[in-house]
Amino acid sequence: MSRSPRLTTERVAWARGPWTGVRYRTDIGPNGEGGFEMRCEICAAKGEQSYWPLDLEFWTPSKGLTRCKSCWNAYERDLRAAAKRRRGGVTAKASAAQRAYQRDWAARKRQQEREAEGRERYERRKAA
Ligand SMILES: [Zn+2]
Repeated sequence: MSRSPRLTTERVAWARGPWTGVRYRTDIGPNGEGGFEMRCEICAAKGEQSYWPLDLEFWTPSKGLTRCKSCWNAYERDLRAAAKRRRGGVTAKASAAQRAYQRDWAARKRQQEREAEGRERYERRKAA
């Protein structure tokens, strides 16, 4: 399923859109052969470093090149947090279940340690 977009003037204008900030640098790349960097407007708005190597490590083409991978992750994290808040956040029921689980785990752990200690004492007595 490969679609080849017709490169009309309109499409080119759209493709230029917000991501015109591509630059070429000669002092980067694994062998110093240079490479392209692209500007993330979100990073720029935050006042951080805004040019990132044009590489799958920093960009996710399938999500669009409107923001860098890190900004996409932050955006999706915010969406998830907002969805969770809408659902009522961490409910009293969920936190009670979590506390009960931790209490049971600690009790099991103490029990295991007691048993191990008792067995050790028994073995020592048997050997003596
Ligand atoms: Zn960014």
